[in-house]
Amino acid sequence: HGQVFLDGVAGEDGRPGCDPIVFEWLLCSGNPLFLDPYWRRHAAASAVVVSGWHRMSYTTSDATFQSVELERQIRFLHTAVGNAIVDDKHVVFAAGSVQLINALVHALSPDANDASPPARVVATAPYYPTYRTQTAMFDGREYVWGGTTARWANASRNSTATTDGYIEFVTSPNNPDAQLYSPVLGGSAAAIVDHAYYWPHFTHIPAPADEDVMMFTISKLSGHAGSRFGYVNIYSFSCVRMWALIKDENVAKRAKDYVQNSIMGASRDTQLRMLGTMKAMLANLHTEEDIFAFGHDAMRTRWLKLNAIVSRSRRISLQKIQPQYCTYFQRIREPSPAYAWVKCEREEDVNCYDALLKANIITRSGVYFEAGSRYTRVSLLKSDDDFEVLMERVTDLVNAEKYED
Ligand code: PMP
Repeated sequence: HGQVFLDGVAGEDGRPGCDPIVFEWLLCSGNPLFLDPYWRRHAAASAVVVSGWHRMSYTTSDATFQSVELERQIRFLHTAVGNAIVDDKHVVFAAGSVQLINALVHALSPDANDASPPARVVATAPYYPTYRTQTAMFDGREYVWGGTTARWANASRNSTATTDGYIEFVTSPNNPDAQLYSPVLGGSAAAIVDHAYYWPHFTHIPAPADEDVMMFTISKLSGHAGSRFGYVNIYSFSCVRMWALIKDENVAKRAKDYVQNSIMGASRDTQLRMLGTMKAMLANLHTEEDIFAFGHDAMRTRWLKLNAIVSRSRRISLQKIQPQYCTYFQRIREPSPAYAWVKCEREEDVNCYDALLKANIITRSGVYFEAGSRYTRVSLLKSDDDFEVLMERVTDLVNAEKYED
């Protein structure tokens, strides 16, 4: 309470003050504060001290703009967790994976001087809306937002149309509904597979992922969303497997060029902090202080609590997720999704977001995910305190049904 931080921001748990707009956004967003207690337990081991003279140059000014050591630790972590095959991949750092959305769409699109039509960027509903908003913000000569795959998948099944020139975003496990998905377009379409949540906190790991272009972010891995660090693993010979127009291009190089041109390379300070974080996580794997055991336990407990309350409701329901065998924990693990994908069942609750808002529960409407207003997303990643308040409000909402019958 009332602590003053080194950066001069006063606030509980380091959270910003109650600017109503920022505060509302934080409550419904995927702000990963569920890991805050873990890092409080590992405060010294994860601390990084940086002298004033350290790494002052622009990241573009020498060959070390991507920390070789950090890249090595990232590869270790994937191999140790068994969630991705990285030996044959290039790693490109960026300021959060939001930046990678544009970097990769640019890298996979035909050159602006090319005579070919712009690439069509698509995703299957319900999908993470930032793919649409970021693509729409920059679309033009190189690429356009093409809507959901439903439209294109049908078109390509019914005619001889090819999937050339399509870039498909796939999130696995998905934000908002936590299901594991694969690309649906196939053929010569390029797929960008966003594995932000493909860590044992949030899902079982059936096998290491091995797609040509895989996005990851520290935000959902260690919880350091404010550091803005994401990376992509790109298959070294992805140019051969990608669609015709870019087959001679080097996708990893184009993605790297994008990052260099837009922010002059990922922040050195962030890279240093990430190195400390990676080392602390790696040192504790499979011990009592394993971050994934901690994260899974926190998220599983939340999911159980929410299910126990919602199972009494005829008004709202949740997505169904089964316990599954996880290669990391080497046992069947219970579900622990990052988000609850809530459906309003009553005919009059056409707008599920509004129905929950009336009960003082801030969610993100299914409309943003192109899934319709009957659905809304509840973030379960928040701080313990916020989660407890959420449980109180959901309980009140469900209890109120008794008096309505
Ligand atoms: N991809 C997905 C699927 C996400 O849910 C999020 C964050 N909510 C991001 C990317 C963005 O993460 P970052 O903090 O790395 O920009």
